[in-house]
Amino acid sequence: MTLCTLNQELHIAKSKRYALAGLVILGWEDAKYYVKAAEEISCPIILQVGPKCRENTPIEIIGPMLKNLAEDSSINIVTLLDHSSNLEECKRALDSGFSSIMFDGSKMEFNKNIDMTCKAVELAKSYGASVEAELGVVGYEKGIKSEFTDPELAQEFYAATQVDALAISVGNTHLEQEKATEVNTKLLSQIEKFVNCPLVIHGGSGIKNPQLYWLAKNTAICKINIGTELRQVFGEKLREYLLNNPTIFDRIEILSHVYEKIIPATKKIILNLRPDK
Ligand SMILES: [Zn+2]
Repeated sequence: MTLCTLNQELHIAKSKRYALAGLVILGWEDAKYYVKAAEEISCPIILQVGPKCRENTPIEIIGPMLKNLAEDSSINIVTLLDHSSNLEECKRALDSGFSSIMFDGSKMEFNKNIDMTCKAVELAKSYGASVEAELGVVGYEKGIKSEFTDPELAQEFYAATQVDALAISVGNTHLEQEKATEVNTKLLSQIEKFVNCPLVIHGGSGIKNPQLYWLAKNTAICKINIGTELRQVFGEKLREYLLNNPTIFDRIEILSHVYEKIIPATKKIILNLRPDK
């Protein structure tokens, strides 16, 4: 049994100075391959389920599926409901076996974000689960704009909510297809002075690998989310295989070939956040 909480894994990462990859999954195949990759290098990972995934597959299906993967695995796995601002949905995830939730009140007014996050923390506690929250807004490449995290407000937010991890906005953006972003390390170090908890970067795909390595080694960032980068690998390999094999039509056979590219790409991402290895 190796289903773990965010709190357990991020504290180890913080003390040993590395970060965990928060890998965004869309279904069974990618989740299975991420676990296989992590097992090959004996590193813990976080499997996270965002809004798009749960629009396609109900939480009640995907929760037990990930729990089963975790319990059969040789590594520690955190399962996280990503970006939910709905307490009822958080409860459904916890009832379905998720070990952790990200309550996203970042678009709410500051005090409402505190109130709602406190409720999420209280709910999660009754399950022995962990909570990640967000302060400031991490924007989207072709969507809403980012708002940087204010260090003093972050201190107030953390003191009031006592979350297990805090997602911050320091130049990072969701859904970037190229590695061109530089994190504002000055702002990050100010936040670190005010908030003594594991920090989280969403939008890791858009950040250059040397900076990701540096952040994992030198800062309180203990979780870096990666979605787009691995979806690109998945899509490219799938396209290549279908073009080269026009007579193959079996879904399981087609998807099994994605494995060849996804495993090495996932290992590279995880190890880039492990300066201790
Ligand atoms: Zn995110």
